[in-house]
Amino acid sequence: MSKKSTAPVACPCGGPSLASCCGPYIDGAAIPPSAETLMRSRYTAYVQHNEPYLLATWHASTRPAEPIIDNEEKLQWLGLEVKSALRLRQRKVEVATDDTDPTKDTVEFVARFKTNGRAQRLHEISVFVREPAEGGLRWFYVDGSFPE
Ligand SMILES: [Zn+2]
Repeated sequence: MSKKSTAPVACPCGGPSLASCCGPYIDGAAIPPSAETLMRSRYTAYVQHNEPYLLATWHASTRPAEPIIDNEEKLQWLGLEVKSALRLRQRKVEVATDDTDPTKDTVEFVARFKTNGRAQRLHEISVFVREPAEGGLRWFYVDGSFPE
């Protein structure tokens, strides 16, 4: 990616700018309207080592008790690719997810990162649920499966 120096700071998730993408969700100024926007903001929170945001958006039933981010680990996030809606729909048919259920959604993505100098990729299908919470209905991350 080559950007002019006058361009706004790009969002780590791949959005044009942090302020118009994940920033407001992480700052608490807005509620992510969809599972995908929540997923993107959680990726950005990982990049920013924002553990409080990750915990706040993790469903209480699966939220880890241990620290999520190991600051000793030399982990560098390189990029995020959210898979197309078409593939997602096909996947939903495969797993027989009720597509009309507005309280549950899945997001398939590939996140690339580097640990100890080695590039790796995380291919995950994340499950999200939508529940009443502070400030209205909110999406929460529940868990993920790995198709590879
Ligand atoms: Zn973003």
